[in-house]
Amino acid sequence: MTAMTSPTRRGTRSTTTDVQARARIAPGVALGVIAAGAIAVIALWWRDTPAVHGLGDWLTNAGRITGLGAGYAVVVLLALMARIPALERGVGTDRLVRWHAMGGRYTVCLASAHAVLITWGYAVLAHTNVVHQTTSLILTYPDVLMGTVALGLLITVGIVSARAARRHLRYETWHFVHLYTYLAVALAFSHQFSTGASFMFDATARVLWSAMYVTVAALLLWFRVITPVRHGLARKLRVAGVVQESPDIVSVYITGRRLEAFGAEPGQFFRWRFLTRESWWAANPYSLSAAPRPDMLRITVRMSGDHSRALANLKPGTKVWAEGPYGGFTSALRSYPKVLLIAGGVGIAPLRALLESIPAKRGDLTLIYRATTDDGLALREEIDKIAAARHARVYYLVGSRTSDAAAWLAPENLRHLVPDVARHDVYLCGPDGLVGSVEKSLRSAGVPRARIHHESFTF
Ligand SMILES: Cc1cc2nc3c(=O)[nH]c(=O)nc-3n(C[C@H](O)[C@H](O)[C@H](O)COP(=O)(O)OP(=O)(O)OC[C@H]3O[C@@H](n4cnc5c(N)ncnc54)[C@H](O)[C@@H]3O)c2cc1C
Repeated sequence: MTAMTSPTRRGTRSTTTDVQARARIAPGVALGVIAAGAIAVIALWWRDTPAVHGLGDWLTNAGRITGLGAGYAVVVLLALMARIPALERGVGTDRLVRWHAMGGRYTVCLASAHAVLITWGYAVLAHTNVVHQTTSLILTYPDVLMGTVALGLLITVGIVSARAARRHLRYETWHFVHLYTYLAVALAFSHQFSTGASFMFDATARVLWSAMYVTVAALLLWFRVITPVRHGLARKLRVAGVVQESPDIVSVYITGRRLEAFGAEPGQFFRWRFLTRESWWAANPYSLSAAPRPDMLRITVRMSGDHSRALANLKPGTKVWAEGPYGGFTSALRSYPKVLLIAGGVGIAPLRALLESIPAKRGDLTLIYRATTDDGLALREEIDKIAAARHARVYYLVGSRTSDAAAWLAPENLRHLVPDVARHDVYLCGPDGLVGSVEKSLRSAGVPRARIHHESFTF
């Protein structure tokens, strides 16, 4: 792609000033809202439970609380994954995914406990055994049967998502099985109203509970379906060209109409769907590797599997759908005037975009770029130009994991490279192993945890 001018050379008019003002929901606020909802759920049970007497009653009420908890938690899980821009920017996708994964485990436990406790409680109250009670509940109430199927689906999704199982599955298989959660939520919904003591005789509670489900369904529909389709039709994205940056890294330049309407910020990523015969069905996440321009976006990708390898063969003019922008790895995380960017391998992509655009005075910006070989230093030429223009310092650390280059990331050496490292906001992106060890070094070098920001390339 020789005819196309790179974003750096054309000069990037970053939209940083307007994006600073975009809405963000801070992690503390999001957790506060989730906790307030949980308290409201317990209050709902409390209001309808004047007293609890005897084992059967205790078990049934424990079943009610866990059931209400599961019904609420599953809505929270879906909301976290609704790709709400203010949540994506303020909390960050990787943290949302971690909350979702942790919440998923609690939800499966709550739903399982609900089924066991409520059946056991009813069995005690009816002076019968648990097997007889289970059969009678499932055969008498169709809604309970649907709820039981929903529990089976949730448990299956939970097992498939467990770390040990996940390692052996293709991403696509795991993702496909995950979609059954929606079916589980739909199947479980009706038994809450037909058999749930908090709802059977209380229309207000039913309306509020339904409103919670409808709101989250609307958010999912809007942000995961309608918005991407709207942008897909309006932006008319096309591949402008592909540049080989190193033996295994390519950059893809994407043009389109009024790309500023995406509201993307340097450091964010999109899920990219390239409409070729081989890869139209997959939407993979790649970060912007240059500050977004109204007429062009760029990604820089290391070829690893089917999707990323296919990028090298994209022809100019190929249609593209981009879903996003997502993630909170942006300049908004800043609180100190000084910024240190640390990249490992292709982790340079979002950091290259930040190097170009993050507000910093002369001498306040440093990039440490780690790679195992010289060839692995993708985008080096343009990084040097940006650094010269912005009076930023750049250190290239090239060598194997046991080399002197790697040792520069140890705390004492890090302090030598960046003497006042403790007074920097640090943006970190690279392979998980490198991120983990550099984070430890930074902590030992005195950087507060809250000032270390990282983007993970693995969900
Ligand atoms: C927020 C984020 C930003 C990223 N930015 C970049 C970037 O700028 N440059 C770059 O080279 N890589 C980036 N990645 C990693 C990149 O998405 C994966 O390497 C790529 O999707 C692998 O797909 P594949 O088919 O080539 O390989 P595969 O061998 O099929 O997948 C390898 C691994 O990639 C992950 N993966 C695959 N498909 C998806 C998907 N649809 N969604 C999420 N994860 C998936 C899974 O963990 C999988 O195990 C980013 C990842 C994330 C999560």
